[in-house]
Amino acid sequence: MPFAQFSETEQQALLQAARQAQRAAYAPYSHYRVGAAVLDERGRIHAGCNVENAAYPEGLCAEAAALAAMVLAGGTRARAVLVAGSGGKGNRGWTTPCGGCRQKLREFGDPDLAILTASQDHTGPHYTLAQLLPESFGPDHLNPG
Ligand SMILES: [Zn+2]
Repeated sequence: MPFAQFSETEQQALLQAARQAQRAAYAPYSHYRVGAAVLDERGRIHAGCNVENAAYPEGLCAEAAALAAMVLAGGTRARAVLVAGSGGKGNRGWTTPCGGCRQKLREFGDPDLAILTASQDHTGPHYTLAQLLPESFGPDHLNPG
């Protein structure tokens, strides 16, 4: 098993939480609904959905919302994240975190953080954060030793 950070049961719980969050997404402009679920260091799951805004740049990504929920609940580290998106032709149906969210995930996850994907109907590929954000800049750069 490539990822030891989470169990099959936790993966199924992440998928369920992300899909439930996806259904709650507020995406009246793009209709691109995304749900994300983060597994924290205590095995708890925190979900978030995208929230668009008429002033487009003010929209919020699902991953950022899920991380905020984790922080609110006292979580400090992400062990895994699952992103459920409706996808499009260009990405075969699954969604990966945008560049900004990859950096946000780096704040709470190590380079080996598991990033799982799912489309509307299927689970997609798994990645590590290092694959999606190689040679990343993280908190350890500001707090050496
Ligand atoms: Zn994002």
